[in-house]
Amino acid sequence: MISESYQPMICPVCGDFYFSELQEDDDITCIQCSRCGWQYDIKQACDPDLKDGRNAQSVNEYKKWFQSMIEANPDYDFSDEHYPPEEPHPCPVCGRHTFRTRDSFDICPVCGWTDDGLMEDEPQRWAGTSNDMCLDDYRRRYQKSENS
Ligand SMILES: [Zn+2]
Ligand SMILES: [Zn+2]
Repeated sequence: MISESYQPMICPVCGDFYFSELQEDDDITCIQCSRCGWQYDIKQACDPDLKDGRNAQSVNEYKKWFQSMIEANPDYDFSDEHYPPEEPHPCPVCGRHTFRTRDSFDICPVCGWTDDGLMEDEPQRWAGTSNDMCLDDYRRRYQKSENS
């Protein structure tokens, strides 16, 4: 049974997710924004200060929370938090190899760089840890060897 209180709309919290037309077998009590995790509640959507619907927080409170998450991490995605994806990560030195994920500590077969997220964040430091040179020096050496 499709509830009459459902209507397609943009997620009122993140504005990024579209609650589309319900399918026959959709259960309205399970519908949730995959970007911010807001649970579909038409009453709360209509009254952004209404608390204790399917979401304990009102839409306005939820928005504030979501904003703070976005500020801390612009790519914040509710479903990612629950299913951390393995994002392919191109080698920061040669760009010709792709590690299966950032900070994998795998070794690039092209240039020999060990994939270390910390060294990548601070390219002038950490020589002698995962790699014998810092990222900047490593890049310079790689570029020289490319040009020779
Ligand atoms: Zn949302
Ligand atoms: Zn490489």
